[in-house]
Amino acid sequence: MNHNLYLRFKKQGEPQRSVAQRVFIRGVNGAIISYADVEARSAQLAHALQSWQVRPGDRVVVQVEKSAEALLLYLACLRAGAVYVPLHTGYTLAELEYFIGDARPTLVVCAPDKQTAINALASRPQACTVVTLNADGSDGGLVQCANHQSTEFIEVWRAGSDLAAILYTSGTTGRSKGAMLSHHNLSSNCLVLKDYWHYSSDDVLLHALPIFHTHGLFVATNITLAAGASMILLPKFDPALVQRFLPEATVMMGVPTFYVRLLQESWLNQAATKHMRLFISGSAPLLAETHRLWQQRTGHAILERYGMTETGMNTSNPYQGERVPGTVGFPLPEVSLRVVDPEQGTPMRVDDIGMIEVKGPNVFSGYWQMPEKTRAEFRDDYFITGDLGKIDASGYVHIVGRGKDLVISGGFNVYPKEVENEIDALPGVEESAVIGVSHADFGEGVTAIVVLAESAQLTETHVLTQLKQRLAAFKVPKRVVFVAALPRNTMGKVQKNVLRETYRNLYQ
Ligand code: AMP
Repeated sequence: MNHNLYLRFKKQGEPQRSVAQRVFIRGVNGAIISYADVEARSAQLAHALQSWQVRPGDRVVVQVEKSAEALLLYLACLRAGAVYVPLHTGYTLAELEYFIGDARPTLVVCAPDKQTAINALASRPQACTVVTLNADGSDGGLVQCANHQSTEFIEVWRAGSDLAAILYTSGTTGRSKGAMLSHHNLSSNCLVLKDYWHYSSDDVLLHALPIFHTHGLFVATNITLAAGASMILLPKFDPALVQRFLPEATVMMGVPTFYVRLLQESWLNQAATKHMRLFISGSAPLLAETHRLWQQRTGHAILERYGMTETGMNTSNPYQGERVPGTVGFPLPEVSLRVVDPEQGTPMRVDDIGMIEVKGPNVFSGYWQMPEKTRAEFRDDYFITGDLGKIDASGYVHIVGRGKDLVISGGFNVYPKEVENEIDALPGVEESAVIGVSHADFGEGVTAIVVLAESAQLTETHVLTQLKQRLAAFKVPKRVVFVAALPRNTMGKVQKNVLRETYRNLYQ
């Protein structure tokens, strides 16, 4: 049997797709992509990939703005058996060089203004072609090539374990790791979520998330496809666009920052949301306070779920039944979740905090070209998530902290080590510690605590200007604070908990 995920979407959505003009995507300018268009256009794009020698298993690195064409390119990669590797649009050339060197793609699809620079990258593999797609997906080398291709394409045969995508996570040691996700990982997770959240072809998703991340790409898009449903594709999250298009939607998925921002809008009330079926939140902790305020203003209880790049979704609050604020609900069907002693791996009791570990068809097959790292992150076939949490007496999972000191700013993960490495490399810096500090808008603000070498004269502005050239904007600290020395414990480890406490009111 062919386990190609695209075929699975097609089969699941079959009854709805028989109405050929059924809408898959509606753009903010009114442009419509029907399911018939999906079939024809992704076929043309798949042929274009093959014309650039993209073979099954080859990587296609994609760094483009959010557009319907970019999503169709994802589907074309599935159909052609290629491995889709989406990258954050904010990554600088220095960061891109690492990703291209690591993924060794056959094809890179990028914004027109980056083509020349990527072509010149030293680490670019010899056989790698670089083509363009513009911001709204209407033009570029990819579009021009695809326009001449056939609108029919037979999906490449794939085993369930064959790779569909590699998504890079930020690396704790400064190196990003590519999480390898198979056709089966993605199909199992979206089918489970579709049922769990009662998704149907009547649903219209307001899609305001980025599409280079598991949330906007797999959770949002794959469920829509598997249900034969529709979505309104916003180019980005913008409260004014949400206000305009919410009346036509039934579901919205967001990171907590979306909900915090929307609560500042005067139009948000019961009447504006009364037709909505479901609001979903994830990717970072939703404050219980936000949950309560949202329910007061709209009458809707936000459904919070928990997942990660490596595993897709692991838990969810119930569709029917109580959605408990401050919890991430129950393990999803087919997902086995346990809380264990971080060192010993022995099970913790109810309400005791430990390391969250997961096993199931959703769990990735490892980090790209890092077998050692992969082995280190598994215990008895369970993936060690790095999240600390507990399970309460009613079976609800609570996330209480992050073992890896990850900072989540505006829904994006920032690993302190990567930012610290860049700061420490600046002349005049002795050392630094990067922490997350509570921030009303971003959830957490990336904050750098820096010790200068004697007689160095660096200013906050100077440090930030330098970092902006090296790091994607979301990783650049919101503030830089200079101190004489970092607090350390007796083992010499920097006490980030002390720093977090000291600067906890920095953004108030
Ligand atoms: P990512 O790989 O970017 O999806 O980030 C995954 C991490 O985000 C997880 O390991 C958690 O630390 C965090 N995360 C995701 N969803 C939630 C949630 N609902 N509550 C708390 N943390 C979350």
